[in-house]
This record gives sequence, C-alpha cells and structure tokens, in this order.
Amino acid sequence: MPIYEYECSSCGTIVSTLVRGYDDPDGLVCESCGSKELRRIISKVSFHLSQGDRINSYRTGSEKDDNFYRDSRNIGLRAEQMLKHAGVEPNDAFKSKLENLRSDPSRVLKE
Ligand SMILES: [Zn+2]
Repeated sequence: MPIYEYECSSCGTIVSTLVRGYDDPDGLVCESCGSKELRRIISKVSFHLSQGDRINSYRTGSEKDDNFYRDSRNIGLRAEQMLKHAGVEPNDAFKSKLENLRSDPSRVLKE
C-alpha cells in the first residue's frame, strides 16, 4: 500500500497515511488543528522507483531528507545493499522480516 502525504491548508502540517487503492481516504483530518482541508502532496521519491532502483540509488554517506525516513520502503535498504555488494542473496526469513517492517513499521516496537 502506498503512503500518501497530505498538507493541511490551514496550518501546513503534513499528515502521512496508508491508502488502499487510489482514492483519498474519507474522514482525514489534520492532526494538529483538526481541519479537513487537506491536499495531497505527490512525494518525489515515493513513486516510480522499483525496490532495485532504491537499493542502487541509496548512498550511505549522503544526507537523507525527512521524506526518506518517512517512507517505510526505505527500512532496511542499507542492509539489502550491503548484502548485494557482498554477493549474498538475502534469505527468506530476512526478506519476510523486512517486508513486515515496511508494511507495518509499528510492529518493530511490539517485537
Ligand atoms: Zn492543520
């Protein structure tokens, strides 16, 4: 599921939400002022990139902006890249763990 970001027209707060399908979710309100005037922001990094592209374009030393950390698909990217450089194919346990973290980052806290 893609993560969409919305900007509050009243106070400028950014709200991130997981979206099923392509429609804006109903009942979305600004977390800080309660306004319903939210417009979707198309994030530059979130679309049109395959996971392979993400791994290849990941740079260890470069600055990451907030969008990078907000995007759960970037979880574990460094580990994936290191395995790739070492010529090691990640095993299924690793891949499914990563998949769980990316689809539900809050799970990290529960384990
Ligand atoms: Zn607001």
